[in-house]
Amino acid sequence: MLKTFSKGGVHPPENKFSENVTIKTLDLPKTVSIPISQHIGSPATLVVKRREKVKVGQIIAKTSGFISANIHSSVSGTVTKIDKIMDGTGYKNTAVIIKVAGDDWMENIDKSQELKKDITLNSQQIIDKVLESGIVGLGGATFPSHVKLSIPKGQKADVLIINGVECEPYLTADHRLMLEKGEEMMVGIEILKKALNVKRAIIGIENNKKDAISHIEKLCENYNGSEVVSLQVKYPQGGEKQLIKAVINKEVPSGGLPIHVGAVVHNVGTAFAVYEAVQKNKPLIERVVTVTGKPMEKTYNFIARIGVSLEEIIKASGGVPEDTGKIISGGPMMGKALNTIDVPMTKGTSGILLISKKDAKRRKIEVCIRCAKCVSVCPMGLEPYLLMTLTEKKMFENVEEEKTMDCIECGSCSYICPSNRPLLDYIRLGKSEVGKIMRERR
Ligand code: SF4
Ligand code: SF4
Repeated sequence: MLKTFSKGGVHPPENKFSENVTIKTLDLPKTVSIPISQHIGSPATLVVKRREKVKVGQIIAKTSGFISANIHSSVSGTVTKIDKIMDGTGYKNTAVIIKVAGDDWMENIDKSQELKKDITLNSQQIIDKVLESGIVGLGGATFPSHVKLSIPKGQKADVLIINGVECEPYLTADHRLMLEKGEEMMVGIEILKKALNVKRAIIGIENNKKDAISHIEKLCENYNGSEVVSLQVKYPQGGEKQLIKAVINKEVPSGGLPIHVGAVVHNVGTAFAVYEAVQKNKPLIERVVTVTGKPMEKTYNFIARIGVSLEEIIKASGGVPEDTGKIISGGPMMGKALNTIDVPMTKGTSGILLISKKDAKRRKIEVCIRCAKCVSVCPMGLEPYLLMTLTEKKMFENVEEEKTMDCIECGSCSYICPSNRPLLDYIRLGKSEVGKIMRERR
């Protein structure tokens, strides 16, 4: 029987329309807008000025703390402006706007496609390289990867878990990457194993990607200690805690981290980015993004430079079809609806999803019928109906007691609710209020 996590979960329609679409390189844009905060943690500090000329891969903003990430120019050209612009989160964020001229790369970047297998750096040098290259979790979480690789004193990693689950409906960027860059990803996994000083890596892939499972299994034959675990299809299996439970049957405690059960989790895209950084000196300047949705005639997987506008990516995919009611950055479960598509693609943009007018309509909110479906699907064992009610009543101490901070914002509760209650909207609000209370207490 296929493995999966034990608590909750849902089965939304998969709609992986672009799973057989080969990754295509998006043409160079005329300008890019590169935000200095594209990660969890403190924004990076600017190190370029207006009118300065930059090359592809040149650092334009430096980490401002341990939990932060370097930002590099994804193009060559001139910095025309440093300004606050709207990004995909709906907030204004400082960004470096660069007018593109040519495609002039930093000399130390190896642009060849040749596979480089020998790993010459030691553990600390790898972590430093990952930090220098601005790598963050590419599954959407954007947590700086060097932090996850720096194991705190007194703790030890036993296993590296690679997240190839891509459980969000519609998205196929990770699937295509495993098929098209599998060997590079495997070397990336070896590098991560060396950094963590672990012998074992498990690549978790859901069973709806059978071609990726067999391809990576075949590759694993040449990489000692790496294996594929094929998983039952269930959302949100890509959540770190759910994936750990599914592959090694360990439960990360409430408020705990994967390392507390000896695990470190990285996404397949991150493993590929680590390969490029360590073996090719290439910082994180581009990523794979899926462009998909029912209204689209053709769907795409692009490799695009960080900072290109979503509008430009959609234009290259045939434009916005007439029957589009909503555009989402990310997948339908955890993505964010956009007010405008004049926002840059960032390190965390895994997909652009166009929703039809019919599907975009919000259904009428009805009263709670106490069916407890939201409770039964919650992968974190929470009581979403209660969290919503307590938040509505502003009873934040109780919201905290009910462990709202454990919510991984997967949206399974809102998805299943027959009364269309906006459970996750309220839970997010409750989490932000409880977060404030906790910070004040500290
Ligand atoms: S969004 Fe939060 S409360 Fe709702 S099902 Fe997911 S983890 Fe549970
Ligand atoms: S699923 Fe909806 S209707 Fe059922 S208990 Fe939860 S909030 Fe109430």
